[in-house]
Amino acid sequence: MVNLENFNKIVEQLPQGVKLIAVSKTKPVEEILHLYHAGQIAFGENRTQELHQKHAELPNDIEWHFIGHLQSNKVKYIAPFVSLIHSIDTFKLLQEVDRQAKKLDRKIPCLLQFHIATEESKFGFSYNECEEMLKSDTFQLLQNAEIVGVMGMATFTDDVELVRQEFRNLKAFFTTLKEIFFNGNPLFKEISMGMTNDYQIAIEEGSTMIRVGSAIFGERFK
Ligand SMILES: *Cc1c(COP(=O)(O)O)cnc(C)c1O
Repeated sequence: MVNLENFNKIVEQLPQGVKLIAVSKTKPVEEILHLYHAGQIAFGENRTQELHQKHAELPNDIEWHFIGHLQSNKVKYIAPFVSLIHSIDTFKLLQEVDRQAKKLDRKIPCLLQFHIATEESKFGFSYNECEEMLKSDTFQLLQNAEIVGVMGMATFTDDVELVRQEFRNLKAFFTTLKEIFFNGNPLFKEISMGMTNDYQIAIEEGSTMIRVGSAIFGERFK
């Protein structure tokens, strides 16, 4: 069930320059529509098939964000309509996004996902891996995949100071990359960080996009 009270509270407290992505993964189209009619336009999904289906059934002006681990062979299912891919974690994936975007004669905005958590399981670049990619000649050849910023997920923990430090690290990566590789590029400006449990800390640490699911749609059961 959509919790409109929580939704309104989050929207009211959102500082200028911070955008809410309502994470609707596993939730039915009726609930997405409910929130859409309450004014929410940007939604986040983490499965290509589910996103493809929901896109077909829901209003055309919804802005769809892909936030989960993305396999290269599935990019084609979302390439025609996706607004932003938050989860670029390999050069191979970025190349495939570029290839599909070229075919469609469009640009696809992308975020570079960094591994900032202490947990082993989370996807993402290390700073050095990312720098190596950005320096490479093959990276310079990309034309249709557009890097507009960075994304990261903090450790799932009650340790507020650890979470804060991880968000600070992501912000520092962003600032360094901006200086070295995206200087004077106005497109490179997004820092996607913060979920239900930590979005307030993320905003304090410079987030420009929070991805909030369960606080708005309730707990997920799958
Ligand atoms: C599921 C998910 C979210 C939202 O998580 P909540 O804790 O429900 O707010 C945000 N980002 C990513 C990458 C996710 O997979």
